[in-house]
Amino acid sequence: MALNLKDKIEKQLSKDVQKTLKDCSENADLFGFKIYLIGGIVRDLFLEKEIFDIDVTVEGNAIDFCHKLADKKICKILQVQDKLNTAKVVFDKNIEIDFASTRQEFYPRHGHLPVAVRFGCTLQEDVYRRDFTINSLAISLNKNNFGEVIDYVDGIKDLKNKTLKVLHDNSFVEDPSRIIRGLKFAARFNLHRDEHTKLLQEKYQNIQLHKDISWTRIKNEIKQAFSLDNPKVFDMFLTNGIEKIFYANKPDIKGLEIKTLIEKYQPDFPWLVYLGCILDDKEIIDAFCFTRTEKKVFADKDTLLSANLSMLNSNYHIYKFFQKKSIESVLIYYLLTKRKEALIYLEKLSKIRVELNGEDLKNLGITNGKKIGEMLDKILKKKLTGTIVKKADEIKFVKTQIK
Ligand code: ATP
Repeated sequence: MALNLKDKIEKQLSKDVQKTLKDCSENADLFGFKIYLIGGIVRDLFLEKEIFDIDVTVEGNAIDFCHKLADKKICKILQVQDKLNTAKVVFDKNIEIDFASTRQEFYPRHGHLPVAVRFGCTLQEDVYRRDFTINSLAISLNKNNFGEVIDYVDGIKDLKNKTLKVLHDNSFVEDPSRIIRGLKFAARFNLHRDEHTKLLQEKYQNIQLHKDISWTRIKNEIKQAFSLDNPKVFDMFLTNGIEKIFYANKPDIKGLEIKTLIEKYQPDFPWLVYLGCILDDKEIIDAFCFTRTEKKVFADKDTLLSANLSMLNSNYHIYKFFQKKSIESVLIYYLLTKRKEALIYLEKLSKIRVELNGEDLKNLGITNGKKIGEMLDKILKKKLTGTIVKKADEIKFVKTQIK
């Protein structure tokens, strides 16, 4: 008998989400559509993990189905993507669901985005475009078999055995971002990769001929994986040779070391600290299409790593060395070099500020712009050596200097 996850739906999804799914179910029957929960939500229901997104696949045209729901005022359509035949829809109580039409995909260039070649195919045909067996499960939402798991790829067996398995031998060649996804899932759900999947991954990583791939896709996956801030993800990346994908050397760093620093110094983009430790190929950094702030992390890291260290012989020089560099880059620099000056800066020096400003110095009698700059720098030097602490001391110091 087919496995039915109705009880898990009742246990794990809120009453409001259940009501929304029931509404979809009734209307799917009414309008003659077959609809299914698909992918991550099925996996997470089975594993009894937290559910983040609700993805529904419609055997046929998802946009048509959503319009029919919207016409009956059951939902509002937020966004339609004609190219992919998908719709994002919001229901009562702000419940959002992504609807996709079943589709088959084709990879005209390995490693680049696929092209949808046929919409409205059968669920079975749709399932084969997916990444892993555990992400290729569906749950029927139609009334006659509500809750029934449709498993064309033995995904339930793999979930039970905690095995991560690709659907076919070309999987990583078609889309290497699946390697990142796989390690992310393995770390998140304590899965082991089946031997053949492991071999396929190693084979792909060892060919070293994959610079021409969609790095923005890899970036998205990496960002998600490292945003989990789970040290195991980083360790798994290194034990599985992910640095090879980035044409980088294997750094001698543990995930926990990174996480501890992140917790202590709270950078805005923790995922970039993890990534910065394994990414340094200029071409790939360009291909990642980073935002300006993200780019600055890598530019700062480069500046720090290529600087002449003999000058780091006083607090003042350490301050100047790290000043205006992003916290992420200072952390990456520390992780890669273990230079204690980086921590001295973060721990102590970065908190030191000159309290007087240009206006204050003018009021104290220094009018020349260049002289103001020089005086602020002198005060800073004094503060960094600890001979000046308070604002009153700064004023006193300026007065003695003017004399
Ligand atoms: P998460 O909880 O991390 O969001 P998820 O499985 O829902 O997990 P999504 O990135 O939202 O992850 O993808 C939804 C589904 O789309 C996946 O379960 C999988 O079936 C399919 N999918 C996503 N990315 C790929 C990919 N690169 N190749 C093949 N199938 C993919």
